[in-house]
Amino acid sequence: MHTAPTGNCARFAAKPLTHAGTPAPVWLAGLNREPLPSLDVSKCPGLVVVAAHPDDETLGLGATIAQLVASGVDVQVVSVSDGSAAQPGATPSEQTRLAATRKHELRDATSILGVTAPMSLGLPDGQLADYENRLGDVLAWILDTAGTRPWCAATWRGDGHPDHEAVGRAAATACARTGATLLEYPIWMWHWAGPSDSAVPWDRARAMLLSEWSIGRKKQAARCFHSQFEPGGAGPVLPAFVLPRLFAVGEVVFL
Ligand SMILES: [Zn+2]
Repeated sequence: MHTAPTGNCARFAAKPLTHAGTPAPVWLAGLNREPLPSLDVSKCPGLVVVAAHPDDETLGLGATIAQLVASGVDVQVVSVSDGSAAQPGATPSEQTRLAATRKHELRDATSILGVTAPMSLGLPDGQLADYENRLGDVLAWILDTAGTRPWCAATWRGDGHPDHEAVGRAAATACARTGATLLEYPIWMWHWAGPSDSAVPWDRARAMLLSEWSIGRKKQAARCFHSQFEPGGAGPVLPAFVLPRLFAVGEVVFL
């Protein structure tokens, strides 16, 4: 068993979103050839989902969140950055407006998933590595004070986006300190990696078993992020191929 190196920002940087990345059919063929074992969530006592940006929780684990909440599991969403840096070249006042918009979008999306009060930490988008230690402390506090001894899901430490990786590292530190079970979910891996890619810890990968109902909730929730998917002045932040690919591959975590 090999240990995959963490930190894949150079891989993502070499394949920016102006390129379509790895197509869904390539992933589906790979996942069909070597199906991932599924994760048993029946013993999940509660879940804290940590997202680097407002939308990562929905894109990465939206159906899992909806399904767990519907089965009576307490799910808390912690949105770390304010999402203000999504539009390159925006003025400071445009960034402030975008942060407010994304906070509303997050509330709308998570309420569709069944989570009523997402926690927005409001840290500066694009600079989360600078706050990694403090974020680790905050997450440890959240995990420690939650009554249910929850599991913690966070963006993967090797996802290729500096903010996603910083959140993953901070969550890993918090989980090591509190004894919480850590699940890491990829978002941008589906863009820059490929099946059998040695940068991906496939031995730790588990597929979530999802109902059609929960996938439907995720689709509805994802539509709330207008600022990310609809063409603005500079075009949509997330190109049109992103969502269909995420829905095609389903939800996967690294244990
Ligand atoms: Zn993100």
